[in-house]
Amino acid sequence: MSTVAMPAEERRAKYASQIDEFMDWVRDRNPGEAEFHQAVEEFAADIVPYVAENARYSDHNLLQRITEPDRVVIFRVCWEDDQGTAQVNRGYRVQFNNAIGPYKGGMRFHPSVNLSILKFLGFEQIFKNSLTTLPMGGGKGGSNFDPKGKSDAEVMRFCQALMSELARHIGNYRDVPAGDIGVGAREVGYLFGQYKRISANFQAGVITGKGLQYGGSLIRTEATGYGCVYFVAEALAYIGDELAGKTCLVSGSGNVAQYTTEKVIDLGGKVVTLSDSSGYIYDPDGIDREKLAYVIDLKTVRRGRIHEYVEKYPNATFYPGEKPWGVPCDVAFPSATQNEIDADDAQKLVEGGCKVVAEGANMPTTLEGAAIFQANNVIFLPAKAANAGGVAVSGLEMSQNSIRRPWSREEVDRRLRDIMRNIHEQCVHYGSGDGSSSVDYVHGANVGGFIKVADAMLAYGIV
Ligand code: NDP
Repeated sequence: MSTVAMPAEERRAKYASQIDEFMDWVRDRNPGEAEFHQAVEEFAADIVPYVAENARYSDHNLLQRITEPDRVVIFRVCWEDDQGTAQVNRGYRVQFNNAIGPYKGGMRFHPSVNLSILKFLGFEQIFKNSLTTLPMGGGKGGSNFDPKGKSDAEVMRFCQALMSELARHIGNYRDVPAGDIGVGAREVGYLFGQYKRISANFQAGVITGKGLQYGGSLIRTEATGYGCVYFVAEALAYIGDELAGKTCLVSGSGNVAQYTTEKVIDLGGKVVTLSDSSGYIYDPDGIDREKLAYVIDLKTVRRGRIHEYVEKYPNATFYPGEKPWGVPCDVAFPSATQNEIDADDAQKLVEGGCKVVAEGANMPTTLEGAAIFQANNVIFLPAKAANAGGVAVSGLEMSQNSIRRPWSREEVDRRLRDIMRNIHEQCVHYGSGDGSSSVDYVHGANVGGFIKVADAMLAYGIV
């Protein structure tokens, strides 16, 4: 039986000693990096067995090489706040793997940012980018800077200070940053403006998520959320079902959450929750277009808190300090941050009738939570497949920058849908057992993403 045809638990049991040995090596080499260990462990559970059964990938320590970043840049970022006080933050760029294209991945500004988090994100990005079929390597960066409560002028000075150092490490053939948590249109504008100033060069393809006036792509803002919902629609269609009429939970209320909600509404589903780090709102009537427009304005213009929703829509309830996973639903879209669904939360979702979990955020489910979903036949769609729409349209933004022509909204949306359909096909191809109709999406995404990168690395010899 090939590893593809074997149920996940059986496969992991058969190769447990090789997986453990490899993970011991990863932990010893990267001490204290819990999130990075977690991301590698999820990958290793599928790829160590796959490599063991495919001799082509067994030589030259390929797995050791693929888990070691090409390079990591860490730098001081000094800027002046509105009171004239000098502030110091730490900036990072993890250039993980450029086997199939320039490093590509967002910048995250959040006080929790550290090397472990950026290495987990950069590692996942390698395989996600490979799944899109576009020529993009994997990278990630950011800072422990907290944009919350800062004035526009402070955010601008911080972005300029960060780019003054980052500029020497990036380029459209080298490394192409974008947004992530805490980095939206405003921050990308400031970052690109400073790059343009200090390089004396309008190199549009050096960063993605740009404004439409200066080289951005239509649908980039919406792409991660839209792509995630397209992916769920594909997974449901595969079992003869559809999103129309389904009750959905969404966590977060930022970029991914907003456009996930919009596309669920488009496809006839009903979103009943949104959240931020202070708690969640439950709206039994569902979040319609007008309510969503209010949330987008609240979060992107007024930069307010999600509890304000219940002042505007009193039928809804705010649950401070809680997560939405106890609300009964058909589909859950965790779209806030890593490890927001632990084993208890996963159990609550199962008990509430949840049939599909689509990871809009990166690694929002702990390994224990994912095991509960798989044991209960919940269709579990991992981040590296489900949220790849964002980076896919970033890749399309780079294409448009190269040919110096923008595509229409319809054109970009059609390409996004095709890419998500293609990723789904890869997951089915690598994640289905012989003759079985059920798909192990985690296995499918890991193997599908791995092969192209591994083949390219082998072609280069030992470098
Ligand atoms: P935003 O900054 O726009 O929104 C993040 C949301 O998540 C906010 O509601 C925020 O609440 C909440 N959140 C962030 N950190 C925490 C935390 N520690 N605990 C609880 N809630 C938290 O980010 P995005 O929507 O862009 O990103 C969300 C997720 O999607 C991330 O995992 C990101 O890596 C992933 N992703 C994003 C892509 C993109 O294109 N933007 C592409 C692929 C993945 P609060 O305001 O209170 O902090």
